[in-house]
Amino acid sequence: MEGKGRGVVATRDFKPGEVVMATPPLALVTSEVRQRPDGELVVDSILDRRLYGSKWFSVLYDGSARSCKAALSYAPEEAATDSEDGRPAAPPEPLLASTSAPAKAAPAAAAAAAPKKKGFLASRGAAGRKAGGKGAAAAGSAEAGAAAGAAEGGELPVPDRREQTRLAKVVKFNCFGDDAEDLAGCAARGEEPRGHIGLWPEFAMLNHSCCPNTVNYVVCGSMVVRAVAPIQRGEEVTICYLGRPQLLPYNKRIAILADDYGFECSCARCEAEQAHVDKLDDAFLEFHEELDERLGPAFMEARAMGDNEAVEEVAEAVAAGLRKLYNLFRKTLIAPDVRQYYIASMYDAYDLAFSCAAALGRGEDGSALQACLKSMEVVSAGSDLHALLAVRHHDHVLATHGPDSPLTALARSALRRAHVARYGAVSEQVLERLVELNRKLHLQEADVADASAAPAAGGAAAAGAEGADAGPGGASA
Ligand SMILES: [Zn+2]
Repeated sequence: MEGKGRGVVATRDFKPGEVVMATPPLALVTSEVRQRPDGELVVDSILDRRLYGSKWFSVLYDGSARSCKAALSYAPEEAATDSEDGRPAAPPEPLLASTSAPAKAAPAAAAAAAPKKKGFLASRGAAGRKAGGKGAAAAGSAEAGAAAGAAEGGELPVPDRREQTRLAKVVKFNCFGDDAEDLAGCAARGEEPRGHIGLWPEFAMLNHSCCPNTVNYVVCGSMVVRAVAPIQRGEEVTICYLGRPQLLPYNKRIAILADDYGFECSCARCEAEQAHVDKLDDAFLEFHEELDERLGPAFMEARAMGDNEAVEEVAEAVAAGLRKLYNLFRKTLIAPDVRQYYIASMYDAYDLAFSCAAALGRGEDGSALQACLKSMEVVSAGSDLHALLAVRHHDHVLATHGPDSPLTALARSALRRAHVARYGAVSEQVLERLVELNRKLHLQEADVADASAAPAAGGAAAAGAEGADAGPGGASA
């Protein structure tokens, strides 16, 4: 890919909801608790089972320093007939797509885990890894990358320490993890959602976009990548590496991508936002800082004290900030599609506005909810947050306008679009089931998040999702 190294290109057209890729892991570590295990455990698993000798690992890393940038000719058909790499010949087509937060890519965590890397590698020897002394190890259980392992690396030499360090870097940079699988999908399959982290080599080839054309998640160990927009043959297939920070303003996003991944994002959303950076970004960043440093903490304190007057003050400040930004939109004549990008980048403001409304015992704000849902469709279609917002929006419109209103029909279409993007073109019956499960499970999650002391603006996905409902009246574009 020009300027981006390697990437993945569609070899045929895809409709929203179609599976673009479904691939088993080379290594996978899961946890019974809803928490992403440490990336070190994936490195462990690769080293212990000598998976670094497998063909799929060499796709990512051929042992040379230039490996990550090496050109690669990869024929997908090989995967179906090749069992030499120790994995099942054909990746299973998932019955139900699933998973959690808007693509929480693990590589960011990998960078954060870097200081531990040395200790781990130093402790490695003939005895292999010790589970004790590593917090996550107790909770995590390493799963074979299907049947890979012993047979695979039998005659391989154990890499020296320098090599191991390099190898660990490659693993961590390319692995993916999340706190839980899709809650509704797991409930429908009768499974407990598990925390997980792993390495799916083909998936690791996908490049980033802040408004990707696919959504990805883990179903029964396989990584599923599903189209959320029409993808044409020859078009690059993209995912989002950012997770929740996908909803941050342009400048913050590009800073994270530069720090954690070392590239300058030039996706459609970044290019569009960059075009207005002179006129808008200062106002945006100022507002965000205020949310982060002043209004968020002020709300937490006011709520803890039961001080409704102070909560009201925060709500008014958030509303005023949003009004100011919308005025700026009008003045700078921003095109409607670019405006949607900006609305998505204001998510934290809605999050806080909703929390205020909830604390004050107010109802839903339909127009703000609709604005949030629309922006999700633009930047994060098929995410669990998108599905949740679609359910809440539908329920709100139904309660307000009744079953026969054309608005309810529109909300129903949006609900279907969100679920097709996430779960594929399922039957009406399965769709109903998933909607019901999402309604139930996510509301429970939100309650749990709300009851705990932790949530703040920009907190856990479930808490953040709650926030999307709210927003001052001026929010509707
Ligand atoms: Zn971008």
